[in-house]
Amino acid sequence: MVDFIYLDNNATTKCDSRVVEEMLPFLKENFGNASSLYAFGKDVKKKITKARKLVASLLNAEPSEIVFTSCASESNTAAILSAAFACKEKKHIITTKVEHASVLETMKFLEKQGFEVTYLSVDKNGNIDLEELKKSIKKETALICVMMANNEIGNVYPVHEIGQIAKANDVLFHCDAVQAIGKVEVDVKKLNASTLSFSGHKIHAPKGVGVLYVKKGVDFKPLVFGHQESERRGGTENVAGILALGKAVEILMEDGFESSKKIEDLRNSMEQKIREKIENVVFYGDIKNRLSNTSCMAFAGVDAHELMFMLETKGVLVSTGSACNSESAKPSHVLVACGADLKNYQPIRVSLSRFSTEAEIERFVDKLSECVLKLRR
Ligand code: PLP
Repeated sequence: MVDFIYLDNNATTKCDSRVVEEMLPFLKENFGNASSLYAFGKDVKKKITKARKLVASLLNAEPSEIVFTSCASESNTAAILSAAFACKEKKHIITTKVEHASVLETMKFLEKQGFEVTYLSVDKNGNIDLEELKKSIKKETALICVMMANNEIGNVYPVHEIGQIAKANDVLFHCDAVQAIGKVEVDVKKLNASTLSFSGHKIHAPKGVGVLYVKKGVDFKPLVFGHQESERRGGTENVAGILALGKAVEILMEDGFESSKKIEDLRNSMEQKIREKIENVVFYGDIKNRLSNTSCMAFAGVDAHELMFMLETKGVLVSTGSACNSESAKPSHVLVACGADLKNYQPIRVSLSRFSTEAEIERFVDKLSECVLKLRR
């Protein structure tokens, strides 16, 4: 596909060309191992140190609190398992029904190991109830795990309040910040997070690199053993990936949410045009408290998979939910949790990025309205 409109940025993003430039020398001539003692390796290590400082500065953390991983799924798994096994007496975990699969599958694994997991419910707009959270805490609660923003409907969760609740009850708090980075301020000190995760490929860096923040003093048990990353994550460093992530973070910090504001305007005008052109459309999630780039919509009586594939034939790429679900035709667990009428209103997710343009959005809305009309006929 050459001239296509990419509107699936919550699944993955295009690498920024400045990020690719940053990586290339480390895939070509500077291929040293950061653990080698000679200069060829040490120079690489210095660059990793710079990337670590950039990530720490984005999160208002200390560089020593940053662990590079292979992806956010790994970061989530490592953080949850570490918290779960940190204290023998505490075998209860609280999470929500709308977390990413990497969290929910880790919870299922822990349930099989004898842990009790409370899954907080959400209302029809996808919001959680903090009173339900408070009531769920027991003296055996080891961890509260709540995402900062939802990948399907875009809701931004009250993670600052959750951090306070966790602190007051002496419970660890893990926050999956994958979709929030670059769109919402992420400050680990304000959040009171014990651990926090995010991923390079959602912020215009390549796939294969993630971040796990581990607060100083938190008893952390690694998932992958070895000497790298101060014994918290073994494995020879993905040098090019880490430097790419550092560059992507630097670009985000220079931008200072400017792009996010523009994306929000573009998303809002897109939704307005859709409302004007197409009858019987609903937008899922908390419309007033969503990520700037995300729009989860459904058209009465239209099969979401048929719509997605028809849009693809017209050069538009959107998804029918999270990329991790979309291979199975299972309904979205997030919208099931919201109690959505999925028989009549099946969702497609449209997610923009700083590379989305007004012209693309105009073309998308035209093609969308053609497809919806055709499928309704
Ligand atoms: N958490 C959320 C909220 C996500 O949206 C994703 C990816 O879609 C992940 C975790 C997993 O990220 P990764 O692809 O880096 O494993």
